[in-house]
Amino acid sequence: MAEPLFRRLALLGIGLIGSSVARVARERGGLAAEVVACAKTGRTLARVLELGIVDRVEESPEKAVAGADCVMLCAPVGAYAALAQTIAPHLAPGCILTDVGSTKQSVIRDVGPLVPEAVHFVPAHPLAGTEFSGPDAGFAALFEGRWCLLTPPAGTDADAVERMAEFWRRCGSMVTTMEPAHHDRVLAIVSHLPHLIAFTICGTADDLEGESRQEVMQFAASGFRDFTRIAASDPVMWRDVFLNNREALLEMLARFTEDAQAMARAVRWGDAAYIEDRILRGRKIRQSLIDLKQA
Ligand code: NAP
Repeated sequence: MAEPLFRRLALLGIGLIGSSVARVARERGGLAAEVVACAKTGRTLARVLELGIVDRVEESPEKAVAGADCVMLCAPVGAYAALAQTIAPHLAPGCILTDVGSTKQSVIRDVGPLVPEAVHFVPAHPLAGTEFSGPDAGFAALFEGRWCLLTPPAGTDADAVERMAEFWRRCGSMVTTMEPAHHDRVLAIVSHLPHLIAFTICGTADDLEGESRQEVMQFAASGFRDFTRIAASDPVMWRDVFLNNREALLEMLARFTEDAQAMARAVRWGDAAYIEDRILRGRKIRQSLIDLKQA
């Protein structure tokens, strides 16, 4: 087994993503000699101890980060600013402050200015997840074969970036760096908009009256069911993602709405060729994902 990359890893937030990282550290080694976790509630910390996936839990973020050479924010992105404010004076010189948040410009905006001079800030986003949340939902194979995007601000120490790249490779991920604004646009279309559509379509179905709504549930076996899986995701996490990637999400939603209107027009006017062409494009995209082993 490789030498651990860090002496002490502090996870601030230990839900689906944080607990998956903890499990990689525990089950495979190579990440950190010691893992400390902090969460918002004592209930989560008690559960984490029961699960035995970290070495130590701390109720206060300040205590959790003390002496850590890697601190990873694994809470909803809306909590980052206050967390960073709390921990900044307690970060050890030379430590790496990183995160797993689904938005990156907001993280750099909220956390960047609070990072002490001697601390390396390496924002990251593992493109891996499920609709489940909390420490019971995590598993060590979550990051296997998935991309992890690093979005270091200009001037970030290259060694710190490489250490985080190695961290995620040891989790089984493929790693690349990306410019934060570009990250947010790409994620708006591949992740944030699909979630917005899923939450919306479930709401639309739920608004149907009486018998129709009952039948939606009874006969959900077709496309609707796949939307309900995505729509089962954590409300706080997704609220924060939408509010912290506002511009890119609204831009992609506007483009989508235009395209949906074009499809509606084709349906109204019986434009079979247009409809068929759009469906074929969907099929091609699905095939490309299968070819890239990302399906
Ligand atoms: P989760 O399962 O809901 O877990 C969130 C964790 O953060 C919980 O342990 C929660 O503690 C803790 N927390 C909340 N507020 C906190 C605060 N103020 N201080 C300390 N801890 C706090 O969420 P997740 O799915 O792991 O998501 C975590 C991060 O990963 C988010 O930023 C999200 O954008 C990103 N991400 C998610 C996915 C995904 O598909 N889920 C994929 C990639 C990246 P309690 O349990 O005590 O409330």
